Amino acid sequence: MFSQEMQEELRASLQEIESQGLMKNERVLSTPQGAKIRTLKTDGTMHTSINFCANNYLGLADSTEIIQAASDTMRARGYGLSSVRFICGTQDIHKELEAQVSEFLGTDDTILYAACFDANGGVFEPLLGAEDAIISDALNHASIIDGVRLCKATRFRYEHSDMEDLERCLLETPDARYRLICTDGVFSMDGDIAKLPEICKLAEQYNALVMVDECHATGVLGATGRGTAEHFGLEGRVDIITTTFGKALGGASGGCVSGRREIIALLRQRSRPYLFSNTLAPAVAGGTLKALELLSGSSKLIGRLHENTRYFKEQMKAAGFEIPDTASAIVPVMLYDEKLALKAADMLLEEGIYVIGFAYPVVPKGKARIRVQLSAAHTHDQLDHAVSAFSQVGRELGVIQ
Ligand SMILES: *Cc1c(COP(=O)(O)O)cnc(C)c1O
Repeated sequence: MFSQEMQEELRASLQEIESQGLMKNERVLSTPQGAKIRTLKTDGTMHTSINFCANNYLGLADSTEIIQAASDTMRARGYGLSSVRFICGTQDIHKELEAQVSEFLGTDDTILYAACFDANGGVFEPLLGAEDAIISDALNHASIIDGVRLCKATRFRYEHSDMEDLERCLLETPDARYRLICTDGVFSMDGDIAKLPEICKLAEQYNALVMVDECHATGVLGATGRGTAEHFGLEGRVDIITTTFGKALGGASGGCVSGRREIIALLRQRSRPYLFSNTLAPAVAGGTLKALELLSGSSKLIGRLHENTRYFKEQMKAAGFEIPDTASAIVPVMLYDEKLALKAADMLLEEGIYVIGFAYPVVPKGKARIRVQLSAAHTHDQLDHAVSAFSQVGRELGVIQ
């Protein structure tokens, strides 16, 4: 029974979230996701803005080619499978998508999941047991943390990108049967990239496996968008890659684990989110196949994303803003002061620039910032517009001269 006591407690929790300023309110879009979006304001009016807070890195979320491919696939293969993969939920397109992802990432094999959250939730438990150790970066994504919790292996945490601390964890686990070092490829708050060359070197030295979550790196890093390994020239050195189709690759949904043949084969037998959750919708499989085809056929989109990121950072630095040096498409504009960051984001939205201010506890205290995410879909005019709005707001708030 939903008692009055429980109702009151839930209300008190909501009140507390509200009073801490942490209530997440959802902005309702009335257009497809894109560089320019229309949102519905609470007063019922429409607001148009240039969008700098989607993971739509390649601008494929409203691609006519992907929409066509998805709708063709839906016509040919139906709306849904109403089954898990191992009963009667596998079509040719699912096998083809697994093959194409493997080809793209340069791995042996790939297994599809409904989301990368599920991929990370299902990857550890079948592979590792109580006699093993997982060594995880302190800033890894929530889904990795949850996946590790579901697994009996002992968990070790190293300070974010701190290679000495990673080595400490390796030195503390000499008796583990297997050791898995686990990191995001691109970290979502600072846009910084895992130190993969050092991680691979330590893994080799201490005989550990390497897993990289490439959600913000697939379609973003490397000359052809193949991710962190390509960025560093370390293709073939990562044992397990997890990634999403819900960001750069069209942004619908779906994810995967890709890597060594036997690892993927065992996941097909034992990974619970794969075994007990419905097949990826045919339209999503068809759309993602098209996204991979577009990305493999030409470096135009990835080139434009890299150029837009370079240009935006250069212009923002010239305007006097502090921008950390990273190669991803996530650009934090450091403001440090919590109130200032949230205020600036509101003022920018009024100027038609949709960005999000991040403050404690989402980022460390005194490290508040506005996060800007670039896309291949942004035009130079839109980037100039953003820089000039940032400059105006920055001057009004006394952040820049
Ligand atoms: C977005 C994200 C996920 C979750 O991906 P979904 O496919 O949306 O479930 C997992 N890991 C990282 C690092 C992410 O950024």
